[in-house]
Amino acid sequence: MNKEIFLCSICNINSGTCNEDCKFCSQSVRYKADIERYKQKPMDEILKEAIAAKESGALGFCLVTSNKGIDEKILNFVCSIAEILTKEVPQLRLIACNGTATLEQLLTLKASGIKAYNHNLETSEAFYPQICTTHPWSQRYKTCQNVNEAGLSLLTGGIFGLGESQEDRISMLNSISSLNPASVPINFYHHNEALELEPNPLTADEALKLIKLTRERLPNAQRIMVAGGRELMFGDRQSEIFSYGANSIVIGNYLTTKGRVMSKDLDMLQSLNLTVAKQVKN
Ligand code: SF4
Repeated sequence: MNKEIFLCSICNINSGTCNEDCKFCSQSVRYKADIERYKQKPMDEILKEAIAAKESGALGFCLVTSNKGIDEKILNFVCSIAEILTKEVPQLRLIACNGTATLEQLLTLKASGIKAYNHNLETSEAFYPQICTTHPWSQRYKTCQNVNEAGLSLLTGGIFGLGESQEDRISMLNSISSLNPASVPINFYHHNEALELEPNPLTADEALKLIKLTRERLPNAQRIMVAGGRELMFGDRQSEIFSYGANSIVIGNYLTTKGRVMSKDLDMLQSLNLTVAKQVKN
């Protein structure tokens, strides 16, 4: 088992304002899910979260916005945050997750202090039209290629439990592999009753096997990160994810759902004799 675990914290700097129709996403305005919605999180709150993440041992701090892609306003907002955090909390490695992005936009983010960009393929190219009709999977793939071209570290993964087949899962993992990401965030669908999708049908055993499959299909990825849905999917079996190949987790809250308190995760790692990674190569 990998002894060093990478911790990442996510910060939803703009929430629930997206016009797209991704069926798994409570941040789409179309489904009227009962979530907190705001255009810009205040800088003092972002800074407070960043300091708390650093103090809990997180290396990665991800600035997430909820729209399809970057526009001028979002770009300026993320860059201004990145510049402040680079100065105030230099121990954190800043990640941006702002949807589809051009090479030029990614280079601007990089110049402001962003080190990595997260853009998930979500599912297979074939299944994607069943979960989103407002933008194509190819735009997601292209953005990931742009990330590589910009020389940012690429984080790309997806979400399991949307009703996809095993063939879709393998296809998605093959597509992810073709992009050679440093980190692969995998999420497990967390049902919200406002959404049209059926609840996640996966059992904890099936989900653990999917972590194993992800690790096997992506032997060169530095990190397999279990992100959203961990608590819901694994309950009191969360500690098992590490023996199936995960070596990174998101700590703290997710975008629209609460995670468990960070200290519980740190206690879990300690009880498993796992150490918190202190630095990251890419
Ligand atoms: S584009 Fe992103 S934020 Fe918008 S609905 Fe889809 S997953 Fe949610």
